[in-house]
Amino acid sequence: MVYDLIIIGGGPGGATAAEVAAESGANVLICEAAEEGRYKCCAGGIPVSNEDFSPIPKDVGEREITGGVLVTPQSGPMEVDATGEKGYCMFRTDFDKYLIDRARDAGAQVMYKFPIKHIEVKTNRDVLVKGPQEFRGKCLILATGLGGAKLQRQVGIEVPPMIGAIQAEFDLPESAVNEHFGDRVWEFFDRSIVHNGVAWAFPKQDAVSIGVLGEGVKMSHFNTFLQYPLLKEKLKGRDMKVFGGRKVWAAPIPDKLIAKPYCDRVMVIGDACGTADPILYEGIHQARLSGKLAAEVFCKSLEEDDFGETSLARYHQLLLKQLYEEDLRYAYKFHHLLYHSGLMEDLINAIYSIAQEDSEIMESTTALFSGSQTRKQSWEVMMSSKWKLVKKLGIWKSLHLFPTLIRANRI
Ligand SMILES: Cc1cc2nc3c(=O)[nH]c(=O)nc-3n(C[C@H](O)[C@H](O)[C@H](O)COP(=O)(O)OP(=O)(O)OC[C@H]3O[C@@H](n4cnc5c(N)ncnc54)[C@H](O)[C@@H]3O)c2cc1C
Repeated sequence: MVYDLIIIGGGPGGATAAEVAAESGANVLICEAAEEGRYKCCAGGIPVSNEDFSPIPKDVGEREITGGVLVTPQSGPMEVDATGEKGYCMFRTDFDKYLIDRARDAGAQVMYKFPIKHIEVKTNRDVLVKGPQEFRGKCLILATGLGGAKLQRQVGIEVPPMIGAIQAEFDLPESAVNEHFGDRVWEFFDRSIVHNGVAWAFPKQDAVSIGVLGEGVKMSHFNTFLQYPLLKEKLKGRDMKVFGGRKVWAAPIPDKLIAKPYCDRVMVIGDACGTADPILYEGIHQARLSGKLAAEVFCKSLEEDDFGETSLARYHQLLLKQLYEEDLRYAYKFHHLLYHSGLMEDLINAIYSIAQEDSEIMESTTALFSGSQTRKQSWEVMMSSKWKLVKKLGIWKSLHLFPTLIRANRI
């Protein structure tokens, strides 16, 4: 049997692509290396933009998130309120199951504990995938996150550059999560914790994900964060949860979109394609969007019976138009300012202070967490207030920022 579409990887990207393709009547197979219900190292922040695909049912979204808290060494917790734009925090085990169930309901077949070791593109015929068994498909979507580098190289597709993240889940009763963290995602901008990165505390129902990410992140950065006075106090006497025999997990996150995410009969989506947003390094919505776009192009190519490179190039064009030009390009600009100016904490403090008197800036700052505006919209609002920023930062810091701002504007 030849499947219309084989998807390798059953994360948010793969599951979303499978749902869209199976809904159109195609026969779709997902091959997932892990067992059903695996723990995934992720803070589980699901911004409201995820509801563009489908509303998230109440019983799936573990904790409704109503805003964020920014912490810098100079300022105490700075609250931003996402009025009316609620997101969720939840364990990825639950969210990924919800997405896979939707794909299954649409008619996709899912094989767990099915790692794919080898792929071969038979030009003008089909694609062969080899795991515990072999399957053939007319088209292949690689949705392996950053675990499929070998497969990408087998078909000549580049692997994105990546940074590191370290995370643990702390066990807290719901009442303690409510008291210490509330319905807020906490982001810590402090270069004494991690130089080119960020640390976080994301509350679930009765647990909190604590983590750090950045270039060259190590266990010592994570340990420094655990000693952070504000956090240490909140976690006093609490234990880490154990998943798969481990308390602390490390995982990579992609840092940049790859230049060509397709070839004959193959499209690459999600983290494997480098779609994560490098401001706070979320990637779930972006993986799902790329999965949806790839599946839509697959459906057209199936109708036309043409899975050649030129046909699949339409996926790349859509990705550039809908993800890069609206969001990622501007996220790279924000990233540049925050992580490469040497002024991360000053920028956060200054923007928050301006936002206290300027509702448009407050809305755009909140949108950086909630996803309620595109990054392009947030960037344009911020740039329209750049003179206010100069005033807040003062002349010396503004002069220091200027070259980075010019570089960011050129991205
Ligand atoms: C510590 C951390 C915290 C994060 N927090 C957030 C957050 O709060 N919000 C957010 O939006 N994003 C967050 N992210 C990013 C987010 O996890 C990813 O962007 C997202 O999971 C990408 O989805 P994906 O479907 O592309 O890949 P994945 O979710 O990685 O799924 C890929 C799947 O492919 C499978 N696979 C890999 N190789 C093979 C193979 N050879 N054969 C078969 N199956 C294979 C894997 O088992 C996996 O299930 C975080 C990431 C990290 C590391």
